[in-house]
Amino acid sequence: MFYKRKRMNRLAGTVSAGRERGRKQQMKILVINAGSSSLKYQLIDMRDESVIAKGVCERIGDGGKIKHKTADGREYVEEVDFPTHTEAFEKLVEVLSTGEYAVVQSMSEISAVGHRIVQGAEYFSESVLVTDEVLSTIENISDLAPLHNPAHVKAIRACQKVFGKEVPEVVVFDTAFHQTMPPRAYMFGLPYDYYEKYNVRKYGFHGTSHRFVSARLGELIGKNIKDLKIITCHLGNGSSICAVNGGQSVDTSMGFTPLDGLMMGTRSGSVDPSAVLYIMEKEGFTPKEMSDVLNKKSGNLGISRISSDDRDLRKAAAEGNPMASLAGEMFRYQIKRYIGAYAAAMGGLDALVFTGGIGENSYSLREAVCDHMEFLGIEFDKAKNEGVRGEELEISKLSSKVKVWIVPTNEELLIARDTLAIIKRIQ
Ligand code: AMP
Repeated sequence: MFYKRKRMNRLAGTVSAGRERGRKQQMKILVINAGSSSLKYQLIDMRDESVIAKGVCERIGDGGKIKHKTADGREYVEEVDFPTHTEAFEKLVEVLSTGEYAVVQSMSEISAVGHRIVQGAEYFSESVLVTDEVLSTIENISDLAPLHNPAHVKAIRACQKVFGKEVPEVVVFDTAFHQTMPPRAYMFGLPYDYYEKYNVRKYGFHGTSHRFVSARLGELIGKNIKDLKIITCHLGNGSSICAVNGGQSVDTSMGFTPLDGLMMGTRSGSVDPSAVLYIMEKEGFTPKEMSDVLNKKSGNLGISRISSDDRDLRKAAAEGNPMASLAGEMFRYQIKRYIGAYAAAMGGLDALVFTGGIGENSYSLREAVCDHMEFLGIEFDKAKNEGVRGEELEISKLSSKVKVWIVPTNEELLIARDTLAIIKRIQ
């Protein structure tokens, strides 16, 4: 059977009555992005979608440090021992609710917690409430994201322990938005057995960002997203491009893992698989060693040999470093290629969006990518684009058939919105 969907989106319908606890009025949502040794957080007031406080607990399992910042400018940094995620959550509760850096009087003001999850595979095509079954499904697909999913599960369990199970928790998946891709886009030309046996296919990542900026673009240009063909370019340390047709992801550049597609800070992006096998043979690399080369020593860093960071490369290129120039040229060329490919895949293009650290800030990159794209209907406005960093702005000419916009992404806000929508449904 072609579609082996095993969705759990509607699994999470029932919840205990005790979860109401007067949280309805507070509307404060804690957003958690947990890794194996860190826990980033934002507390968002959903009445006006403002960030009340944010920070990070670092070096979990190997020392520990909390960096906390409130909206009114109070900053707190402390070295604390975090043997596990549980101690990090305990510290977070303490800092949020007591002492001079507190932003809530009591933790009961926090209505719910939203967690970012990297891999939801074919089980999750939208955000869901955390249940035991949801949690074990996320754990069971750890093979597909060994560096991320086990850490997410640890963090959710620690969060439940510290906050109590009566505080609703929601999971928001990087992959969910791309579950609308058709099989012709997500299948690799490998024996079908490997899809059936090991779930090897394209999943795509950065889904929360592509979903956020494409929806926002619809609002900005005052059109129904259902009527739009959009290409969203999320360009940062990790980069991916998405074809969004009628509000749905129909193709994206990252694949089975976030290694595929564009060349990135330290990731290679797509390469001929035979080149990988050839290098492994020549260098005598194990799969783990080859994975390190592809994920940590390639991309900008591998080509330039100086840095993974786009700003360093632009500076070095301006000073005449040819390898830094080459890395930049490769990245821009690859972005152009995806834009052409996805316009063809969708049978047209209404808007192009730049987001992510590089997409939002690097005006020279936006100009280079949009250069000579008139054949596609892109009339780029160099003057409007020049010098613009991190703000929502149309950077195409008024006469341009294809609208080009900078739309800063906000994945945390989308996680908070999904979390709120789900808890409203269950209350
Ligand atoms: P992200 O992963 O989205 O945080 O993006 C990180 C990337 O954005 C790095 O390569 C930075 O060099 C790049 N970046 C951040 N700020 C700027 C800026 N002002 N100009 C150019 N690139 C920037």
